[in-house]
Amino acid sequence: MEQNQDKLKEIISHSKEYGFIFPSSEIYDGLAATYDYGQLGVELKNNIKAYWWKSMVQMHSNIVGLDTSIFMHPTIWEASGHVDAFNDPLIDNKDSKKRYRADVLIEEHLEKIKQKIDKEVTKAKERFGAAFDEDQFRATNPNVLRNAEKILTIENRMRSTLGANDLEGVRQLIIDLEIVCPVSGTKNWTEVRQFNLMFSTEMGSVAGDASTIYLRPETAQGIFVNFLNVQKSGRMKIPFGIAQIGKAFRNEIVARQFIFRMREFEQMEMQFFVQPGEEMKWYDYWKNQRIQWHKNLGLGDNNYRFHDHIKLAHYANAAADIEFNFPMGFKELEGIHSRTDFDLKQHEKFSGKKLQYFDTVLNENYVPFVVETSVGLDRMFLSVLSASFKNEALEDGTSRIVLSIPPALAPYKVAILPLIKKDGLPEKAMEIMKELQFDFSVQYDEKDSIGKRYRRQDAIGTPFAVTIDHQSLEDNMLTIRHRDTMLQERIPIASLAAFLTEKTGWSSLLKNLN
Ligand code: ATP
Repeated sequence: MEQNQDKLKEIISHSKEYGFIFPSSEIYDGLAATYDYGQLGVELKNNIKAYWWKSMVQMHSNIVGLDTSIFMHPTIWEASGHVDAFNDPLIDNKDSKKRYRADVLIEEHLEKIKQKIDKEVTKAKERFGAAFDEDQFRATNPNVLRNAEKILTIENRMRSTLGANDLEGVRQLIIDLEIVCPVSGTKNWTEVRQFNLMFSTEMGSVAGDASTIYLRPETAQGIFVNFLNVQKSGRMKIPFGIAQIGKAFRNEIVARQFIFRMREFEQMEMQFFVQPGEEMKWYDYWKNQRIQWHKNLGLGDNNYRFHDHIKLAHYANAAADIEFNFPMGFKELEGIHSRTDFDLKQHEKFSGKKLQYFDTVLNENYVPFVVETSVGLDRMFLSVLSASFKNEALEDGTSRIVLSIPPALAPYKVAILPLIKKDGLPEKAMEIMKELQFDFSVQYDEKDSIGKRYRRQDAIGTPFAVTIDHQSLEDNMLTIRHRDTMLQERIPIASLAAFLTEKTGWSSLLKNLN
């Protein structure tokens, strides 16, 4: 844990040093839980967006995009249930004065019990070797069974108290589980209170004419209220999806852990409209598609796992998270929700307009069911950064920091480095750069020794660096260095663009998705 917190700190300072992420409003001492993406951060972020958009929209003929406004009619948030139910239960520790989400405290307690089970299994695995049958062990070992039973009991109590909005019951559960504040170490807890997460503001310039509106807490509602616009204008046939990338705002109670939990963040959401009764089939389909999409980045399959929701949101009949192994442990990266026909029906009710689809195959009208995939862009950014960040010890006794970012996502694809700053080498290097700039993001660097320049490119994740030397002027060849292996090879200048396309182009990443 200690070591992992150190890793997060290292990533935060590396992000700042190289221009990935800065604390917002820093010269005014910052603003809690808001961050700015710097010159390299914006490139990586744009590439993550492109990976999502290309795989979701460009590669699915039945999914189209949308870009809706952040301000929306305030009644939308009544219809969606956010005004009444978009709350988090908060609890304070009276000694440390720290505030927590009550549900998160309980979830973390559950995680500890799960870790005990995992430890037990690992120990047995080592003891029994090849003959070990994990399923049988989990089904029969008394310690595992006792802990599994504990988990079930806690989950049931959590589900029933949170579901019934029984806040005293939630507090009692925290007390019964003897959960202590990680800061003060005491069990001196306040009451549990509900806290609405929506930011509100006023629209209208005439005094007295103002009305309260909200900054959207999710992008999904912009899709729902445009469902028929898109379906009709795009002549879409069910099943079809609408995808959107955009900002969302939540007044989070506990906003720590860097860009993992911010008050202003970006979501990449896709709502998939299906025939009623078919939603579970599509829910399973999208769960599978989405985990493949993550694993396809090559950041390590073991870094991902599913977590099925205990407490379902007011709109869902099934929900799972894809969790990622962040430096703080496994946490939610993406949510996949079967949202039923809740949202469209609510908008029918509150707007008085029909939001139905005429199914020409079934020859009937219905309100479609919806399966949603919703991934946080900033959490994706942190997952890529934290899995790529490596402090490597090298054979010669030195070390290097390298970001092994998947090449298609890297801020720069190639660095162009003239060996020295004279003899026409910079001119030749510039000439190569100008050619490549149409298709690739390229960095030119002529300062310092070549070794130092390589290290700088490693630290920002540039997958390739090319060196132009005197011989290049004679034979039109250059040296290309691979970031991850540090191996070098000599290739013709004329084949550089094709090389980069093959190794860093979108198809290098997208081709393995079906
Ligand atoms: P959590 O339980 O962590 O608060 P959530 O279940 O409320 O998240 P969703 O409403 O499902 O999150 O939102 C979809 C995705 O949006 C999340 O999986 C996450 O990646 C991202 N997200 C949600 N809240 C934040 C936030 N405050 N900062 C950054 N990303 C967020």
